[in-house]
Amino acid sequence: MILQENLARIKNGLPTGCRLIAVSKTHPASAIAEAYALGHRIFGENKVQELVPKYEQLPKDIEWHLIGHLQTNKVKYIAPFVHLIHSVDSFKLLEEINKQGKKNNRTISCLLQVYIAAEDTKFGLSDSELFALLDNPALPALENISIKGLMGMASLTASTEQIRKEFAHLKNLFDTLLNKTLPPQFSLQELSMGMSSDYPIAIEQGSTYIRVGSAIFGNRNYTTA
Ligand SMILES: *Cc1c(COP(=O)(O)O)cnc(C)c1O
Repeated sequence: MILQENLARIKNGLPTGCRLIAVSKTHPASAIAEAYALGHRIFGENKVQELVPKYEQLPKDIEWHLIGHLQTNKVKYIAPFVHLIHSVDSFKLLEEINKQGKKNNRTISCLLQVYIAAEDTKFGLSDSELFALLDNPALPALENISIKGLMGMASLTASTEQIRKEFAHLKNLFDTLLNKTLPPQFSLQELSMGMSSDYPIAIEQGSTYIRVGSAIFGNRNYTTA
């Protein structure tokens, strides 16, 4: 069984403190159920409209991660159950997550997504936007969020040196935040970085969550993200 071999190979290479998020986007609930039957419990999806029906169909002890861009008007659909939102890229989005957390009587865990790639991508905070967000005077009042760390995506390049540099930069930002005095809703412990093509480098640079899709489930049937 390919899925079983893939999961075992990747999990066996994980150092203590680093966990595997199986990215199941575009794959049917049956593929997730197969990984679940093998004991895997941590899954990631990049779209709310794909995550919600899968959540409804599958066992409730699955830990669901939202890893793709999140629009404020969709937060309400995942607020009751999401384990960790990796893609917070604005203060406005944090405010909405806080509001929906309050409505659902829970604290929602989030990561701040930082733009670390050399290429043009649309999403993520620049370093200066990250520091501006941390200094936002309205932040300490958001009591239904817990900011657990940072997320980033490296450039799509064959240059392992470039990828290593980008992950090292994210780790460096994380360490800088650890030395800052931050509001009480910060509980920094997670660094989400590494995908199928670059997760060994991410692990070497201190990742605590790798997000791996195609190296587990095979290629997706479409080319656009
Ligand atoms: C799709 C996706 C992944 C996994 O990509 P693979 O190359 O299939 O491992 C990881 N992170 C994000 C944000 C994604 O959208």
